[in-house]
Amino acid sequence: MELPRDPCPLCPGNEGDTPTILQLPSHGPWRVRVVPHFRPLYRIEGEPGRTAEGIYDRMSGLGAHEIVVDTTNHGNDLADESDEQIALVLEAYASRIADLKCDPRFKYVTVFKDRGANSGQEWPHAHSQVTATTFVPRRVLYELRAARDWFRERDRCVFCDILRQEEKQGKRVVDSQGGYIAFCPYASRVPFETWIFPRRHSHEFEKPGEDFRALGALFGRTIRRLRALSQGYHLVLHTAPNVLQTKGELSEYWQNLPGDYHWHIEIMPVVPTSEKSYILKEVYFNSLLPEQAAELLRQVDLG
Ligand SMILES: [Zn+2]
Ligand SMILES: [Zn+2]
Ligand SMILES: [Zn+2]
Repeated sequence: MELPRDPCPLCPGNEGDTPTILQLPSHGPWRVRVVPHFRPLYRIEGEPGRTAEGIYDRMSGLGAHEIVVDTTNHGNDLADESDEQIALVLEAYASRIADLKCDPRFKYVTVFKDRGANSGQEWPHAHSQVTATTFVPRRVLYELRAARDWFRERDRCVFCDILRQEEKQGKRVVDSQGGYIAFCPYASRVPFETWIFPRRHSHEFEKPGEDFRALGALFGRTIRRLRALSQGYHLVLHTAPNVLQTKGELSEYWQNLPGDYHWHIEIMPVVPTSEKSYILKEVYFNSLLPEQAAELLRQVDLG
């Protein structure tokens, strides 16, 4: 099914026949809504398409692909929204991850967002995407492996170690709120790359107990800062893989997972100088030091 562009099917009042997977708040008019993706990434070639399985949108067992409608305001960027609205979006992410992880066929649930014309954003209405896959994305697998090895050697979470160092040094820290911190990573791949972490160790974003209000406030300020300095961004949420799925490449990772992995949000801004190196090779050339990037981000006037 092609997404019709006019009227915008992500706008309130135009829900039409798109099934609602989730809406927040759960009663009354929605403020965040999750629907099946109109052109899902995961489907078997030649198959007519998805089959509905309860509220799920399953691609012949290959995966799920959903759209999170970030706001009811067609013209608004998520950065224009209130902390409460951003908190609701985060709550929707957590709810979908937790729900999709109940299916042992899925090894990983990814939440991502492309914002801006040069980021690959598909429709003007602000949205995020959720995919559930029968494989673990390569970058996550690489992180899991590195985290496991670090933990084996030192009995500590590598991300907690990074956070302690960043907070102590302070020079790459952009902002913080409550139990959450935003900083430009030491080996930033692109200028203004920013990571958001919970200070307290937690391997699962979707586990109850996160303070989405505080995280939403920090997240909002971070994307407002980035808006002033970049053309858009790619965002990905990294949480632990599905522990119900232990086959294949994941079989050796489970022993220390709650201790060695630490969920986080990675934001890769779209900046003109980065595009060439980012597309051509897996080696990143970044001319802006993360310390300078953090300084510039901190200086953005948030009004
Ligand atoms: Zn719209
Ligand atoms: Zn940790
Ligand atoms: Zn990551």
